[in-house]
Amino acid sequence: MADLQREEGSTLLQAERQGEAYFAESTNPESVKGRFYIESYGCQMNFSDSEIVASILHEANYQSTRKEEEADLILLNTCSIREKAEETIRRRLRQFQTLKAQKPHLQVGILGCMAERLKTRLLEEERLVDLVAGPDAYRDLPRLLGLVDEGEKGINVFLSREETYADISPLRLDANGVTAFISIMRGCDNMCSFCVVPFTRGRERSRDPYTILAEAADLYQRGFREVTLLGQNVDSYAWVHPENTETVHFAGLLERVALIAPDLRVRFSTSHPKDITDEVLHTMAAHPNICRYIHLPVQSGNSEVLERMNRTYDSDWYKERVEAIRRILPECAISSDIITGFCGETEEAHHDTLEMMQFARYSMSYMFAYSERPGTLAARKYKDDVPEETKKRRLNEVIRLQNQLSYAHNQADIGKVFEVLVEGDSKRDSNSFKGRNTQNKMIVFPKLDGFRPGDYVSVRVESATSATLKGVII
Ligand code: SF4
Repeated sequence: MADLQREEGSTLLQAERQGEAYFAESTNPESVKGRFYIESYGCQMNFSDSEIVASILHEANYQSTRKEEEADLILLNTCSIREKAEETIRRRLRQFQTLKAQKPHLQVGILGCMAERLKTRLLEEERLVDLVAGPDAYRDLPRLLGLVDEGEKGINVFLSREETYADISPLRLDANGVTAFISIMRGCDNMCSFCVVPFTRGRERSRDPYTILAEAADLYQRGFREVTLLGQNVDSYAWVHPENTETVHFAGLLERVALIAPDLRVRFSTSHPKDITDEVLHTMAAHPNICRYIHLPVQSGNSEVLERMNRTYDSDWYKERVEAIRRILPECAISSDIITGFCGETEEAHHDTLEMMQFARYSMSYMFAYSERPGTLAARKYKDDVPEETKKRRLNEVIRLQNQLSYAHNQADIGKVFEVLVEGDSKRDSNSFKGRNTQNKMIVFPKLDGFRPGDYVSVRVESATSATLKGVII
């Protein structure tokens, strides 16, 4: 917790204590409704949503706890992207049965994409579950908890076309006081055939940019030095003023956040190859504090497979976007998402994916074997015909290649000097700091007096593995 002890009275520390103290002050123990414990799974969007949930519950006189055994209310903010993600949640619910036996008044709620996908089925299948709330229903949590207090079950899985929680300031859970996520939009209008997100998070809606700027400026004032703008597809961000007097697209939003302060780093995730524009790339080039890193999921390197995935671009289009990034931002690192063994994927198509990885020279990737999701376009239209062992073999080949690419990418950094934002202590060595360079690469380096989390330091890279760079402050 080195960074929190940074200096007495610093806003982050204050806020943290204030949060706790706030409750102590504003809420006499009698009015505290209970302690909640929240666990988040899946994408950054879910972790960001958990901070919205925490803020709503605090407003309703619940206090947060980091210990499940202290909780009166346990919330699991779930992911539904693959079968395995849902199995993890069902296993976790088994583990809470012991706690429930010890604390009969314990309440358990399921939030997020699994709640939205399964709806009332979750209440039927999981007797332990008292409450089910989808990603657009978090404002309703206090009312749903009221129903549970009266012995009923609470459920709200309504998907909204407006909800962005723009007026709710997230309560930073597990904050390191240096980096934070800001959700800029919700939902997704793409209909990738393998994906459940459009069904679990609904249609796309962009958040009022002035609330985003206010949140970023507040974080900067509180000592944070990096914000990541979050959305399923940030490139399709498009906010129109209710009186049609103004329209803000992603490039415009990005520039406005970057202009808050030159030492506020700006990152964003996730981009979509069909929507990422040269305007966004030129905006990045014009502002050194917009990090030289783009997460650009390709999913497959084969155009026929991309067609069946309904990704709305082909491999040539993707390669042209990669070349545009290289032309406009030569030092920019690119990472990706890759699915192996999608319906109808041939060995040749698999090799197109390996070839695409070598073409793009990804610095890292998230790689998975195809997991058919009920209700998706692919589940309805295509046979999940690639045998599991073939999916796994192809996944291992993709992972092996990515490790080679990451290793080569990092080895090429040896001897280079990077500006690094200190994020905190290295996980493995408390005498070392960890932080990332503009390419989103983690660097570990020995501490030097006078430096602390939130500072920018110049680090020369001395050695590298496929996952981490090691260096010294110069
Ligand atoms: S862009 Fe495609 S993969 Fe990503 S969230 Fe939207 S539908 Fe899912």
